[in-house]
Amino acid sequence: MAVRVLVASRNAKKLNELRRILDEAGVAGIELVSLNEVPPYAEAPETGVTFEENAVAKARDGALATGMPCVADDSGIEVDALNGMPGILSARWAGKHGDDAANNALLLAQLADVPDERRGARFVSTCALVRPDGTTTVVRGEWPGTIARAPHGEGGFGYDPLFLPEGATTSAATLTPAEKDAASHRGRALTQLLPTLAALT
Ligand code: IMP
Repeated sequence: MAVRVLVASRNAKKLNELRRILDEAGVAGIELVSLNEVPPYAEAPETGVTFEENAVAKARDGALATGMPCVADDSGIEVDALNGMPGILSARWAGKHGDDAANNALLLAQLADVPDERRGARFVSTCALVRPDGTTTVVRGEWPGTIARAPHGEGGFGYDPLFLPEGATTSAATLTPAEKDAASHRGRALTQLLPTLAALT
């Protein structure tokens, strides 16, 4: 019988991405369950000061509430010229949660005078897997690049139109979903979690 693993997200894309990564690695016997499929439980607000703290808190809440192993992630972009910010504040950098256009406009304005050689940045994804007995595994994936001077591309979400992955000539918003999965911070983090997930089966 398959092991049921809760993914502490309502974002179907995140669930599908983990499903693809498990399938490609040949890890069988795991049924991924989303937050929409379990009874509601109290979710602690994201008050950690690191991606790791936020991911572990979310995964711990899920494992305690459901008795299933739980995977959770926290992600964002770290910009060198801003001393690593927006970081954990990425989703609400311009003040309102999830306003991608405002976040991108603010970031561009903040970097207006920053020369090309100091526009380094990285996307970061931290994923935590907490088992019902509290055993915790945390991994971090990073995707290095630079911040462009103007948005490019229609795909992706968040800061993708401004992010030029290292070695690429155009933004992350011009990649197909498969190309982005293969390179991205989230893909890199989830891949590191594979051995721990496989050990659950
Ligand atoms: P969360 O981990 O889903 O809360 O995402 C945090 C925020 O980081 C998002 O709202 C985006 O602004 C940013 N972010 C995280 N991953 C990506 C990505 O792959 N592309 C663009 N923006 C991202």
